[in-house]
Amino acid sequence: MAPAVPVPGTGSGPGPNPDPVPDPLRDPWRDAMRLALDEADAAGPAGDVPVGAVVLGPDGEVLARAHNEREATGDPTAHAEVLALRRAAAATGEWRLTGCTLVVTLEPCVMCAGALVQSRVERVVFGAPDEKAGAAGSLWDLVRDRRLNHRPEVVHGVLGEECARQLTAFFRDR
Ligand SMILES: [Zn+2]
Repeated sequence: MAPAVPVPGTGSGPGPNPDPVPDPLRDPWRDAMRLALDEADAAGPAGDVPVGAVVLGPDGEVLARAHNEREATGDPTAHAEVLALRRAAAATGEWRLTGCTLVVTLEPCVMCAGALVQSRVERVVFGAPDEKAGAAGSLWDLVRDRRLNHRPEVVHGVLGEECARQLTAFFRDR
């Protein structure tokens, strides 16, 4: 059978069912990304950039959720990913997050990409790319650097437009 060719007008776009074309790579992560988007909303009141992250265990259970708390706590390392990894490790009692997946609304920076490698997560799923500071494919590709002995799988663009819109709205309203 010939591969399905996307028909113009049936892909992403406005409407009640904006993305009817199945995407087996990204669809399994949409629910977790919605949790991350909800979590990101909680960053706003403190003036923090709305970035949210969740860590899923090997069976898909939510181990931890976190949002950017840099302004809220005055901690330069309090990015959503770092906080979520710390909470997941505390929940499991183990620094190695083998088999876990971190889902985050914005592409990780170099610090978070480093933390992801250190934590041995199996997979990183992100929504919007960060063209200015992304370290999972945009500006650097630290998580898949072949010189490192642990390289998480990367899935990008899950609910990417929603994630980008949330950030755009935050900076527009400032
Ligand atoms: Zn970061």
